[in-house]
Amino acid sequence: MAIALEGSVVDELIAICGPEGVFTGRSALFNRARVPAPFPAHRWEDHIPQAVVLPTSAEQVSEVVKLANRHGIPVVPRAGGTGLTDGAVPLNHGILVDVKLMNRIIEIDHGNRTVTVGPGINMLKLNEELRRHGYFYPDDPASYPCSLVGGRIGTSGWSLIGARYGHTRDLVVSFEIVLPTGEIIRVGDGGGRSTRKSSSGFQLKHLFIGHQGTLGIVTEATLELAPRPEAEFSAFFSFSDYMGAHRLTGDLSRSGVATLGGVVLFDEMKIAYLRRDDEAYIPQDESVRAVVACASYGNADEVRAGAKRLLRIARASDGSYMGDEISQGDWWSRHDRYATPQHGRTRDGQVALMSWHCEDAAIPYTELPAVREKWHAIASDLIQRFDMFDDWGMFAYTNGAHKAWGDYLTEIDIGIWESRWTDESWAAWVDAKREIGRVALEHGGSLTACHGSCRAGEVDLVPVELGGGFEVMKKIKRALDPNNIMNRGKYLLDQAYEEE
Ligand SMILES: Cc1cc2nc3c(=O)[nH]c(=O)nc-3n(C[C@H](O)[C@H](O)[C@H](O)COP(=O)(O)OP(=O)(O)OC[C@H]3O[C@@H](n4cnc5c(N)ncnc54)[C@H](O)[C@@H]3O)c2cc1C
Repeated sequence: MAIALEGSVVDELIAICGPEGVFTGRSALFNRARVPAPFPAHRWEDHIPQAVVLPTSAEQVSEVVKLANRHGIPVVPRAGGTGLTDGAVPLNHGILVDVKLMNRIIEIDHGNRTVTVGPGINMLKLNEELRRHGYFYPDDPASYPCSLVGGRIGTSGWSLIGARYGHTRDLVVSFEIVLPTGEIIRVGDGGGRSTRKSSSGFQLKHLFIGHQGTLGIVTEATLELAPRPEAEFSAFFSFSDYMGAHRLTGDLSRSGVATLGGVVLFDEMKIAYLRRDDEAYIPQDESVRAVVACASYGNADEVRAGAKRLLRIARASDGSYMGDEISQGDWWSRHDRYATPQHGRTRDGQVALMSWHCEDAAIPYTELPAVREKWHAIASDLIQRFDMFDDWGMFAYTNGAHKAWGDYLTEIDIGIWESRWTDESWAAWVDAKREIGRVALEHGGSLTACHGSCRAGEVDLVPVELGGGFEVMKKIKRALDPNNIMNRGKYLLDQAYEEE
């Protein structure tokens, strides 16, 4: 259990954020310790913050960070708390900065097609407002209604329709960030809020995206506005074997259809899991062993023409079109499918309080079949040893921005009875995660395509994946955060200070 902050520090926080913006009560602290990813619930108290602040301005955030530097207290930024790599978990207690109250739409710039927002807004709320103007912000994760812009930048999120519109890093034009020592700066693709391209100096925007809150706290962001698509087309195809589905996935991804938003490949174990779920649209027929889905967006004329080509490609495969109801219904439910991480299905189809874990490596197309076999073998070994895990299958999803071919965000979903954690099963789980990551790297992939890789198991392999780049990360961290204030303990960055 963390030691309470000194009363004088709490008083200083109240002077900055006001009494309504500072919480030290048990429920406020415990609720902001955990995340939907497998969490060591048996060691919950190790991870609670000492105080929670809800600032309403960049200046308040800056003052909190300066205070933390004066007193040597760690600061953890938190947005929606849906991150799956423990980024928002206070590993070393400290002050948790919850950005949810900074959730205003600050400006819609019709002329230059941008919208400026606070980091605490979610895409659902933002798009409800943008719809009235004929725009949308096309960052479309499965966590669409619950993750927030600040967390999307903190993780460098991946969007389900990224092949057409790009991912978070492509959709954020510029943002304001409070550095670990409290200075407020703006970084972006160009000089101002909405300039898309500049060649001056270092491209700092990318440095401050995906750092999991270790390099600062985003307090405002200017985002791309896309025209609201006139038309959406989705099509699902069933297969009796994985390799036929794998071939069609590649053919659709390489089709060159400009409106293509994404292609997904569900494997046999995923289909088996979805069969347990009466809310899913996947049919019960046992002959279905793999499914390929694709979706496209844009002007009606272009979507219609693109759909013709996609259907022609699919007709030449071994797959069968699954009909309009499944194709549209399942695609429409894409934000709901995993929106209940604490709501799994047991093997006999009962709703259960099981948590859901997914690894999200980026895997080259040609390596998908081999990686699939190895990952399921790792899961199977875990399941045999501990009666608390279940393999909920895999899917692979187009990963490139504005181009669908190449590598795939590849997930294996593992169901976990979290109430059964013991130190032994936790250690075995961490080992399995490390093995999953090792396989991804051995096959030329990366540890993660969107969640980040801060957690025990995967984080050990970050220096292996990044090589000399990890040494540069440590130098940058030490230069920008001399007191190791921002999200202390993440990404093995404490090593930067130990070496000193
Ligand atoms: C059901 C479900 C489905 C998901 N589907 C997807 C998906 O399709 N695509 C995808 O990319 N992810 C997905 N995720 C993972 C998660 O939603 C994303 O990682 C998301 O970007 C996290 O946003 P958040 O607002 O919840 O951030 P949080 O979890 O609160 O924070 C994430 C990280 O960002 C840091 N951070 C938070 N706010 C700030 C800030 N203002 N400035 C700097 N750093 C900050 C935190 O310290 C932390 O390290 C899913 C998660 C769930 C539970």
